[in-house]
Amino acid sequence: MEDQIIKEKIQVVILEKESEVGGLAKSISDKRGFTWDLGVHITGGSKYLKFTHMMHKTIKDWNSVPRRVKAYMGHIINDGNPENNYVPYPVQESIPYFPKDVKNSSLNEMKELSNVKEKFNENFAEFTKSTFGSTLQEIFIRPYNEKVWTVPLEEMNSDWASSRVPHVELNKLELRCQMDREQLNQEEKTKPQSNFKLEFSL
Ligand SMILES: Cc1cc2nc3c(=O)[nH]c(=O)nc-3n(C[C@H](O)[C@H](O)[C@H](O)COP(=O)(O)OP(=O)(O)OC[C@H]3O[C@@H](n4cnc5c(N)ncnc54)[C@H](O)[C@@H]3O)c2cc1C
Repeated sequence: MEDQIIKEKIQVVILEKESEVGGLAKSISDKRGFTWDLGVHITGGSKYLKFTHMMHKTIKDWNSVPRRVKAYMGHIINDGNPENNYVPYPVQESIPYFPKDVKNSSLNEMKELSNVKEKFNENFAEFTKSTFGSTLQEIFIRPYNEKVWTVPLEEMNSDWASSRVPHVELNKLELRCQMDREQLNQEEKTKPQSNFKLEFSL
């Protein structure tokens, strides 16, 4: 929708019932002086350059914090060092961290599926299976999403998924599958999304 608004230069009228703008991207102070953040206070990268430009113009004092978003994959990796059972998020990018057999089947399924041109996905289960394959779906996508959304994947539609579920660049993934854990950890630190940027207003 927002793409269409920008592309077609549609004029929109924004109505606000509160006396201040901001919606959930706002903090309120109570009478004891505590500040409550209602929602979003952290921004990641945005595909909208105007938004990124506006944020950098408005906020001078950014704090950059290393991102530590990891998924527990101990049921697959089963390493004696508990730290090694966590892989960076999104997990579809972390196939190189899996043991050889799971890594190969996940990668091969994704490669085969990438050659299928026409996909008709009735629901989120079909979308994830036809995009990431049955191995990744069973070891991560299904248990994770059913926990988060509390409904079977078959009952969720997939309209939202293309813009919210990170896609994988297969060529890069294949190259990364040849790296060892140390090389992957080093590479992880160089990714743009390895840091969160946030603004503190004191
Ligand atoms: C706890 C929490 C943490 C979050 N953290 C992050 C984060 O760190 N990073 C991130 O990117 N996203 C985060 N989000 C998600 C993010 O807050 C939302 O995606 C975003 O605020 C949505 O923006 P919006 O303008 O669509 O809606 P909102 O921010 O909800 O704004 C809707 C506005 O409409 C007004 N309104 C409602 N009804 C009417 C009416 N009848 N008439 C007139 N006005 C009305 C409301 O007062 C409100 O100001 C978080 C959300 C929550 C709840």
